[in-house]
Amino acid sequence: MHKYWALGNMNYQRKNLQIKSIVLILTLFFMLGCSVNTQETNNEIKNKVKNLLSEMTLEEKIGQMTQVDFFVIGLPEEQNAANPIDQAKLEDAVIKHHVGSILNAPYTPNNKAQSIETWRKMMQTVQAVAAKSRLKIPVMYWIDAIHGATYTQNSVLFPQAINMAATFNPELSFKEGEITARELRVSGLQWNFSPVLDIGRQPLWPRLWETYGEDVHLATILGTSFIKGHQGDDFSAPDKAATCLKHYVGYSFPINGKDRTPAWIGERMLREYFLPTFEAGIKAGSPAIMVNSSEVDGIPGHANYHYLTTILRGEMGFKGFTVSDWGDIKKLYTRDKLAATEKEAVKIAVMAGIDMSMVPLDFSFYELLLELAKAGEVPMARIDEAVSRILTVKYQAGLFDPKAPVLPIEGNFATAEAIETNRQAARESIVLAKNVNNILPLKKASSILVTGPTANLLSVLNGGWTITWQGDDESLYPQDKLTVFEAIQKKSTGKVTYVGGNSFVDEIDVQKAVEEAQNHDIIVLCLGEKPYAETAGNIDSLNLDQAQLDLANAMIATRKPVILVTLEGRPRIITAIAEQVPGVILGFLPGMEGGVAIADILYGDYNPNGKLPISYPRNTNNIVMYDHKPIESYEFNSYNPLYPFGHGLSYTSFQTSGLKVEKDKINRGENIKITVNVKNTGLLKGKETVLLYLNDVAASVTRPSKQLKAFKKIELDPGQTEQLSFTLTPYDLSFIGVDLKRIMEPGDFKVMIGNETVNFSVTKP
Ligand code: BGC
Repeated sequence: MHKYWALGNMNYQRKNLQIKSIVLILTLFFMLGCSVNTQETNNEIKNKVKNLLSEMTLEEKIGQMTQVDFFVIGLPEEQNAANPIDQAKLEDAVIKHHVGSILNAPYTPNNKAQSIETWRKMMQTVQAVAAKSRLKIPVMYWIDAIHGATYTQNSVLFPQAINMAATFNPELSFKEGEITARELRVSGLQWNFSPVLDIGRQPLWPRLWETYGEDVHLATILGTSFIKGHQGDDFSAPDKAATCLKHYVGYSFPINGKDRTPAWIGERMLREYFLPTFEAGIKAGSPAIMVNSSEVDGIPGHANYHYLTTILRGEMGFKGFTVSDWGDIKKLYTRDKLAATEKEAVKIAVMAGIDMSMVPLDFSFYELLLELAKAGEVPMARIDEAVSRILTVKYQAGLFDPKAPVLPIEGNFATAEAIETNRQAARESIVLAKNVNNILPLKKASSILVTGPTANLLSVLNGGWTITWQGDDESLYPQDKLTVFEAIQKKSTGKVTYVGGNSFVDEIDVQKAVEEAQNHDIIVLCLGEKPYAETAGNIDSLNLDQAQLDLANAMIATRKPVILVTLEGRPRIITAIAEQVPGVILGFLPGMEGGVAIADILYGDYNPNGKLPISYPRNTNNIVMYDHKPIESYEFNSYNPLYPFGHGLSYTSFQTSGLKVEKDKINRGENIKITVNVKNTGLLKGKETVLLYLNDVAASVTRPSKQLKAFKKIELDPGQTEQLSFTLTPYDLSFIGVDLKRIMEPGDFKVMIGNETVNFSVTKP
């Protein structure tokens, strides 16, 4: 089922745009030295937009601001048409209602991956109708390609974002961006509702796995690398595609953990934790931003002028366009009761700064905005502004003048190289959390009982937004990919037996598993979560369900060595199990190559190097982030997760030493260089990520005990040492001060890498 929608109206309070010059100066200061902003509209595009706008009727303008779902233009699924578009409905949308944008895969509500041929036909049909319209403005067709081209059959489907974060490898994220964009372009698509730049600091939230985890710096680096790979310097290139940052802002931090429920984020926290990834994504050149479906501090995302206009435009200088999330303008009326009618909801949202409405199942937005504009309740200047932004992006994408009809399949789609990159990403994203007495790697000849609900399914490796919206239709998964059990079986030279239900709803035959355990050397116990997306994944507790706990306890009771493998979108509580077993592998959602990657690690064909991008809680209410405030680890309080942020073992060992700061005093505004040696002290070649943390010793606002400011991943041979150097900038030393502006205070700072700490101080120039 895909979602809900609404209607609305209310007492609208316009807020004054107050751009505080000091904030602007600081923002510009921190933006210096950034890469070229591909959103910079050149004069040619500006003129084209101006000319086109001057020819447009009010109806044509409002149509550009309207985005409808496939449902509005599609044939019913039962017809099973080679081209699922209903020509008459499409003409009604694009010609009669002047709709400028469409989203989603056939067939609402069960969006499903289509063949390349179907997508190409669909896109030709859509653009052919647009070409018949009076001004021939092409349509932008958006899709959620969140870990690869989700809705194209047999595409390369990567580890989900939480796993990409665990790789700590920006190059892999860049490549994921490149491959996703190429596979979209092969399908005739070029607009991607990705990446999610929300920060994952609420483990119950069912979209945690769509984020790059709890840390701002890590999410910034991984997210911007993805954008750069996806868009290149010019997203109109035939193998590049546009991205959309989502969900601006504060969506990921619902106080009760349920999707689309309120967050209470103070402005200091918002600026320190939730805005920086978006600011970085804008600088990386993303031309679109999707809005938070929920509310922050009592104001729904779609009504928040302060966030959508004052901060986004005034402070962060965003030039692209904003798009609502699914039906969220109507919901200001039907759900939030912020508006007394749907019409008022439209007015609030548009005046707050929404440029395009994902309506998405009818033309209500178009009709209501038309009425509002005719009555002068929404000024023409605001409509022209929104439409100009949308048209600018259409020109930037080369939509009016496509460079190539579509990218050829050969050499661009599911190539051996892309599949290998995906496999590498999966390997680097898996965290070896526990390995007592080197129980791992396993011998190929060992006899293994594989059991548990996540052992023999592909869907549990991928999670939501895979082939379908919920990702749970196992029958649609490619037959040539391997589950964990199949991958173990393929590698093993010993006996491998699988016991367990084929889906979460089947009963697990615990008795059979216990009996079989007696005939095997090792038990690989696969637990976790079934796939879900968005609100459908809401849960009341992080505890695993009883059936999984019963199986785990029965396996532990056999006294055979148990290796726990988890596949899950968020950290379900495994403490009691993990404490009793010698081996724990945290797989999260490693994607289509995840089964093979896990088997590679189990058998030592790959030396693990994934590190946790979140703090893995010890208990349901043990929700403390690694960058907690001193008070959270003071007196009786402690940061005591089951596994901390950054944790991840290897089959070799590494030692950092010789941590040095270049100077022990710098002037405010200067950079500081830090060096450290890292040695592979074990017997195997391996990769290590060195994490640099900073602590501001005393400040006018309480500072985290430590905060990740830089990291580097390197590969070392046994015995090899390398010196790494890091540069911290004034931005790295700054924070959001008492007056809610970013500042850098003089004083002492601590740098921490591994077991070492060095200090330096910053003085006033
Ligand atoms: C989700 C977005 C998604 C959109 C379009 C919404 O429900 O929140 O992340 O891009 O649907 O499918």
